Formats: sequence, C-alpha cells, structure tokens
Amino acid sequence: MKKRIHAVIVLLFLCFAGIVAVLFHSLVIPFALGSENQNNRAHSSFADTNCLEFETTSWKMNDSVHHYLEHSYLNGMGVLKYAREIQPKIDAGQLVEIKNNSFYILDTMYYSYPFLTPKTKDLLISIGETFQEKLKNTHFKEVRFVITSALRTVSSITRLRKRNKNAIRNSAHLHGTSFDIAYDEFDTPSSLSSAEILYLKEILAESLYELRENERCWVTYEQWQSCFHVVNN
Ligand SMILES: [Zn+2]
Repeated sequence: MKKRIHAVIVLLFLCFAGIVAVLFHSLVIPFALGSENQNNRAHSSFADTNCLEFETTSWKMNDSVHHYLEHSYLNGMGVLKYAREIQPKIDAGQLVEIKNNSFYILDTMYYSYPFLTPKTKDLLISIGETFQEKLKNTHFKEVRFVITSALRTVSSITRLRKRNKNAIRNSAHLHGTSFDIAYDEFDTPSSLSSAEILYLKEILAESLYELRENERCWVTYEQWQSCFHVVNN
C-alpha cells in the first residue's frame, strides 16, 4: 500500500514538474527573450538617434585643406613669421582688426591674433547677419557667437604645435583668410541649457552651410576643438 502511495506521489511530482517545465518554456523564456528584444529596440532607437546626429547640418561641412589651401594662399596676404609683421600689413590695407560687435565676441587668443584680410572680415559679418536673421523671432536675439582663433604666424603655430601636435603647419590661418567659431559656447545675457546650446549650434551650422553653398567659404566641423573652421572663398 505504501509503495502505491509513493508511486502516486512520485507520479504527481513528475506531472507537476512537467507542467512547470512547459510553463517555463512557453511563458518565461519568451518573456525573457521579449525583454531582450525590447532592449535591442531601445539600442537601435538609440543608434538611430546617433545616426540622426550624422544628418545634422554640422556633419555636411567637412572641407579639407586640399580644397582651399592654394586659393587661401593666393588670396591671402602672404605668410608672417612674427607678430611684429602684422602692423605693416595693416598699414598696407592687407589686414584689418576684428573687434567685439553685436554679432560676435573674441575669445582669449593665445595662439593667434584678431586680424583678417578685409574680405574675410566681410565674410564674418555675413555670417553674423545670417545667424541673427535666423534668430530674430526667437528669444535668442542677443546671442553672439565666439571667435576662438584668427590669424596665426609661423611662430604662433610653432608654439601651438608644442601643445597640440595635430595643429598643421600649413594652415589657412597663416594667410589671414581663416577663423574658428566655437559651437559649444555663446555669449548671452543669461546662462544656456545644453538643449539651447545644441539649438544655437544648429542655427550657426545652417548659417555657415548657406554661405558655403553660395561659395562664400569652406567650412570644417572640428569636433576635437569644438569649433567650425571657416575659410574665406
Ligand atoms: Zn581653424
């Protein structure tokens, strides 16, 4: 009798284990896989977001030195070895000073000088006008962009290269035809959120892109230096 009871208990236990196994396979595993798939979807939507980053206007501007260096050299004011050579170029009308105005402010320039050829300064004004035009119906009307670099000399590039090996010797900055505009900081009456900075970066990129499309300039999106490198055409 006891053996029969044991057999029934074992049988019931096996039935119960079988039901648990079936439930595990039919419910728990698909649920787990479903979660994993959901995670994959989350990753792919994150990846999609990253892909979208490559579709922003900034990424469309990747001109390189070989596109513009010869033109820059021919339309620049030669190459200066030392800062003391700037004044004679100003006297000859080949360089003009750039100063803070309603469109932009100058960053502290440790490795360059706030001078450009007259036509390059005109380009800078056009960028400012285009940028402000795009912002006129927003609350960013008083925002100014920041110029982080302009004219360099052979001497200042040599100093810069001691700090940044990637700084190229043969740069359009030597010709007074080039400047850099920061995209991660703007001059504003009040502080900006990260989203606002991203918005202004895109508006700045659109302004540059329009002028580039009109063959006014070449532009390189410099992610390491957080700036747009702009060369007058
Ligand atoms: Zn530059």
